Amino acid sequence: MRYRSYTVNNFRDIPQVRERLTPEQQFDIEVVAQVFPFKTNNYVVDKLINWETPLEDPIFRLTFPQKGMLSEEDYTKIADLLKKNAPKELIKKKANEIRMKLNPHPAGQKYNIPQINGVKLHGAQHKYNETILFFPKQGQTCHAYCSFCFRWPQFVGIDELKFAMKEVEILIEYIKSRPEITDLLFTGGDPLIMKTRVLRQYIEPILKADIPHLKTIRFGSKALSFWPYRFTKDDDAEDLLNLFREIKKSGYHLAYMAHFNHYQELETDEVKEAVDRILSTGAVIRTQSPILRHINDSAHVWAEMWKKQVEMNMVPYYMFMARDTGAQHYFGVSLVKAWEIFTDAFRSVSGIARTVKGPSMSATPGKVRMLGVSEINGEKVMVLDFLQGRNPQWVGKPFFAKYNPDAMWLDDLEPFEGDKFFYEDELNEMLELEKILNS
Ligand SMILES: *Cc1c(COP(=O)(O)O)cnc(C)c1O
Ligand code: SF4
Repeated sequence: MRYRSYTVNNFRDIPQVRERLTPEQQFDIEVVAQVFPFKTNNYVVDKLINWETPLEDPIFRLTFPQKGMLSEEDYTKIADLLKKNAPKELIKKKANEIRMKLNPHPAGQKYNIPQINGVKLHGAQHKYNETILFFPKQGQTCHAYCSFCFRWPQFVGIDELKFAMKEVEILIEYIKSRPEITDLLFTGGDPLIMKTRVLRQYIEPILKADIPHLKTIRFGSKALSFWPYRFTKDDDAEDLLNLFREIKKSGYHLAYMAHFNHYQELETDEVKEAVDRILSTGAVIRTQSPILRHINDSAHVWAEMWKKQVEMNMVPYYMFMARDTGAQHYFGVSLVKAWEIFTDAFRSVSGIARTVKGPSMSATPGKVRMLGVSEINGEKVMVLDFLQGRNPQWVGKPFFAKYNPDAMWLDDLEPFEGDKFFYEDELNEMLELEKILNS
């Protein structure tokens, strides 16, 4: 299968789009795609989407821009400009204005930039002791784009902060200097969009450096879902699997962090074959996804997804809350609802699938989990805890917030008692200190 990509410029070439979507529905896609990045491919279109009822299909909603992602007002503005055949520059300007209103840089991403000998590693992020994230320069795009993606600014070119770095040598020096780092996580975009020979330029020096405290190499990728041929029929698929084997042979735990949003992504022969091939290298596949309205906001979908993953020998790992950016108003699920869905699904699967944690918010102080709703002195409270903290001491201590059934993110919550959460003073001190170090 040859990769064919579709964007706003050519999506009307897709036969199913012409046959199954009205001209008005096609226009909606064109309008919303002026603001949000849109890219899909022939595998997603031909194998994952059910074109009988595209507008209700979770994978269609996951990859094609949805009208509801823009407010009425913003939709009308862009639609009018398009109808009037306004100059491209003008549409772009308007689209950028709308984007700037959508919190393009959530959760203090500008913090946690590692530094060694006065050199900043702009293509890396080190927030939690054990794990450093690395964003290889050539991996800053994806096989297709998810409509809810919090990395959307980097795909539309308004992001000057594209965390990207060429110098793997600096990364190695940094890891060497930090004995607490056990995990190196390659992320993006999607690092497996890179040709294997490019990926090798990053991996081989790391294996060669043979850092004793580095134990795990992880790849965060959606390739299994959006382009499983990456592991089967692509020219360099075999070489990629060989690279995985070399990582294993060098003694590392190799973790493929797979992003799946719906069990429908697990049903093709292509994905099954790709999973088997990855597992044959000795890698472990762990799975994660945000919880998203219109796509997977039901316990049934999650339970089926986890069960299917276990059946295919993958390990359910995280349920995330949708980031407070972009079209969160469209995809967002409240914390209380997410907890109910998580718990209903968790209750209905065997302990083997209960390796999953969540629902979790990747917020400025850390990964905060919604543990549940409880009562203190007859008053409803929300119970939360840290799964990861900027200060590791914060992890595992339950804390309380006033009950708020509409809250979608940590910022929407208020402490149950007092005017601050227990970590806030310390967090502010840490952020101040980092500002000074980074200036
Ligand atoms: C989620 C995350 C990690 C990895 O956390 P694990 O719980 O070990 O999977 C590392 N760094 C950042 C910034 C993260 O958000
Ligand atoms: S694959 Fe990941 S990085 Fe790429 S668009 Fe989807 S969520 Fe964003």
